Order: sequence, then structure tokens, then C-alpha cells
Amino acid sequence: MSKYWTDIVQQLNPYVPGEQPQDQQYIKLNTNENPYPPSPAVTKAINGYAVENLRRYPDPESRQLRQALAAYTGLECEQIFVGNGSDEVLAHSFKTFFQGRDDILFPDIGYSFYPVYCSLYRVNYRAIALDSNFAIDVSDYRQANGGIIIANPNAPTGITLTLAAIRELLEYTDSVVVIDEAYVDFGAESCQALVNEYPNLLVVQTFSKSRSLAGLRLGYALGHVELIEGLNRVKNSFNSYPVDRLGSAAAIASLGDDDYFQQCKDKIIESRNWLTEALTDLGFEVLPSKSNFIFTRHSSYPASQLYAELKKAGILVRHFETSRIENFIRISIGTDDECSALIEALKGLH
Ligand code: PMP
Repeated sequence: MSKYWTDIVQQLNPYVPGEQPQDQQYIKLNTNENPYPPSPAVTKAINGYAVENLRRYPDPESRQLRQALAAYTGLECEQIFVGNGSDEVLAHSFKTFFQGRDDILFPDIGYSFYPVYCSLYRVNYRAIALDSNFAIDVSDYRQANGGIIIANPNAPTGITLTLAAIRELLEYTDSVVVIDEAYVDFGAESCQALVNEYPNLLVVQTFSKSRSLAGLRLGYALGHVELIEGLNRVKNSFNSYPVDRLGSAAAIASLGDDDYFQQCKDKIIESRNWLTEALTDLGFEVLPSKSNFIFTRHSSYPASQLYAELKKAGILVRHFETSRIENFIRISIGTDDECSALIEALKGLH
């Protein structure tokens, strides 16, 4: 604490990302990164980039990238906002749509950045409990609210909402509903087609997970032009150039290689199914995931012990000390070799 900090900063409880160890080589299954490299088209775009152009600022409106996303999604450029990772897009959404409104709603177990943005922007919220199966029941959201934000698939559970359930939410409320689709490509149904039907729906996606570009920091939002215009007002009051030239070139190249994208996500889905079965055979309960991670617990092994033993064996997974889920570990889907090493390490515990 410092007397120089404002009250808001004194009260912040910043988000703690998963470990990025610098000391030793771990099998890293803790931050939902893609185990496969980005598309070869990305490598080519970066290797071939005319470095002399870096002396110039990038286009503050990221037109080329937005055009590529428009072609990819079938939406208009004006319905697309891009930012420095979807975390930044989410942060701007809290500022643009939620600050100064009534309480917003989000699941009690969800992406733990949401309460952090609430404290940063002084947004009040009510956390809505997941049901006994760790799923979201949208009927619980039929209450007065200043906005709603839900990750679909939810994190860290990996459980999805149907399009019908999202429609039900949107039919009930006039507030802005943000659906955070960071993991949607791994088997869930995107609600991006609904943005033309519901002017209060904002869909947020990222290049970090299914496109293996977490290190480049690229995220985007899809929504009605009025929502996008609002986000641009906030962005242009914060940082004019959130997407750099190299990032933009790489993202465009990634969008152009759909075959690689499909193969990569199909492989991760296949590995997830294999890992789910292997864990189930070892007596683990695995929640039904449609993302690139699984959330699992074992009745005989406390999660803190599993986390520690696996770390000793050189495998990092994520453990949250949060009530109701303190006995779960979250495992990101790795390569086949990584998944096998995890199973072997767990067998060693028996
Ligand atoms: N939403 C969810 C649910 C996430 O788990 C993450 C990754 N931590 C993000 C958004 C942010 O991802 P990025 O900023 O890399 O796009």
C-alpha cells in the first residue's frame, strides 16, 4: 500500500494470471494456451514483414484487420472492434456499457477478471450462483440489471449455453449482454449471428486460443454499430493504437488459413475427448467441456495435493482457491505427448 495511490487503487484486488515460469521447462497445462504453433501463414507474414514500416504508427482504426474479420464473419466493418487481447476489449466494455449503471450480473464461478474490472471501474455486481451441476441457468438472470456478462463456454468449467438460452436472456433484458466467446471454437455454438437481431448483444472473441496467438494480444468484439461506436469512444480516450502493425499482419494471415485452423481445433477436441476418458478411467469426475481445457476433481485427492504433485512431476495445471471449486483442477489440453505424460503422472499417485 502507498499513500500515493488513489482509493480505487488501494482497494484493487488485481487479476492473477496463471504462472508463466521462467526458471524451468514445465509441461504447461495451466493457462489454456494452444499447444500447437500458429498457422505457417502467420510465420510467413511475420518473417516477410517489412520491418522499416515499424517506424510508422499503425492505422488507429485497424481497417485491414477489421475488413478481414468482416469477410470472415459476414458482418460489416462497422460492427467490429479490435483490441489488445480480448481482456482489453472486455475492460473497455465494462467502461462503455456498465460503469455508472445498476448492478450487473455474472456467474459466481466464471472468468475471474470480471470482478476485477468491476473494482477498477467501480461497477456494482451481483454474482449469480451456478446450479448444482455447475451450469448456468438463464432463468436466474431474469431480474433487474445494469448489464450481463457471461463466458460461453464458461471458464473454468468449460460448460456451454445453448443459443436458445442466450436468446432467452436477450428477450428478457434491454441492458447490454456481453457474451465472452474466448473458447467458442472448441465445440460451442457462437451467438455472433444474433448481433443483427439484438442491438444490445456484444460478442467478444480472441485470437489467443484457437489461433495460437496469445503472445500477440489480439481480441475483438462483434455487435451493433452503436455498441462498436461506444467502444471506439472509450478506446480513443485511452490508447489510439492498441493493435500493432505486426499483430495485424499476423492476424490477417491467420484468418486466411482456415484449413489449418480447422485441423488444429479438431485435434484439440479429439485430445480433449481422449483425456476425458483417460481421467474418468482413473476415477476422476470431469465436467462436460466444450473448450480447450477440462475441469476435474477426484474424491480421494484434494486438488491442492494434485496441483503440488503434478508440479513436482514437471506438469503445471491451474488450481483456484475459490469456494465450491477448491477441489477442482483445470487442465488445458496439450499435445498427445503432454496429455499422456499427465495421465502417467496421475497413475503414479495411485
Ligand atoms: N475471456 C476468458 C473467459 C478467458 O479465459 C481469457 C483468457 N484468460 C480471456 C477472455 C482473455 O484472453 P485474451 O486477452 O488473451 O484474448
